[in-house]
Amino acid sequence: MDLGLRDRVAIVAAASRGIGFAAARELAREGARVFLCSRDLERASEAAEKIHAETGAEVSALQADVTSDEDAEKFVNAARETAGRVDICVTNAGGSPASTFGETDLEMYRRAFELNALSAIRLARLVVPAMREQKWGRLINITSISVKQPIDGLLLSNTIRAGLTGWAKTLSTEVAADNVTVNNVAPGYTLTERQDELATARSRNTGKSKAEMIELWASQIPMRRLASAEEIAAAVAFLASERASYITGVTLQVDGGWVRSLF
Ligand code: NAD
Repeated sequence: MDLGLRDRVAIVAAASRGIGFAAARELAREGARVFLCSRDLERASEAAEKIHAETGAEVSALQADVTSDEDAEKFVNAARETAGRVDICVTNAGGSPASTFGETDLEMYRRAFELNALSAIRLARLVVPAMREQKWGRLINITSISVKQPIDGLLLSNTIRAGLTGWAKTLSTEVAADNVTVNNVAPGYTLTERQDELATARSRNTGKSKAEMIELWASQIPMRRLASAEEIAAAVAFLASERASYITGVTLQVDGGWVRSLF
């Protein structure tokens, strides 16, 4: 299937590693012109060079912290000044820490809202008006399966991402007539550095080894394994594509069957 992504201009946030990196690489493989960012310019540049070497696509790296208004604006402006427009925006950031209700103070909620909700809303505010004018746009938020089935111990993710999902659905309705789609990709347990860190944190609390933690997660997944970042990225590329032109307002879980609900 030709995804129709050749020469589309994509920005991918938080993409020096993990799911963001894999999404940037998949879009580049499909022929998109990619701009990626991370808080650290060196790491972002290494990621861009790696993707360019693998795909031959033009990939630019920028330093931007997605919790900063100024950095987000610089990121979007750089893409626009170089490529003339932004067609695809993939919002992403690091994950909020694992905590229970008793361990979570108000400041932690505020930080999680900044990191996992406002970071996406901020980028959307910068790109969606022009997408509406050009009558073509794709906004894809990386969220989590926690929006369909909350995960024990991930109070902040369970709380904040549900809010972002409500926001995305509302936005999708407002902009649909302008041929701008808004969707979320909700990864299940995915083998990235983040997951490695979570396994270490959980193993400290449970007395299990990191490998045992990963095995335990795998045992709860019908496919009996964690996802690769590439498997999440494939869903991002599809939703970004011309082929997904009539899909908007959805959360596509990519979880090996982990979520047990019907929708
Ligand atoms: P990761 O920690 O491996 O990578 C996160 C990337 O974001 C890194 O490149 C990091 O430098 C960058 N980043 C972090 N904070 C940033 C900021 N403020 N500004 C700019 N860049 C920033 O994480 P991942 O596993 O790839 O996960 C990506 C997202 O998906 C996270 O929000 C995570 O919670 C969510 N998620 C992951 C899983 C999983 O199993 N890995 C499952 C569900 C949801």
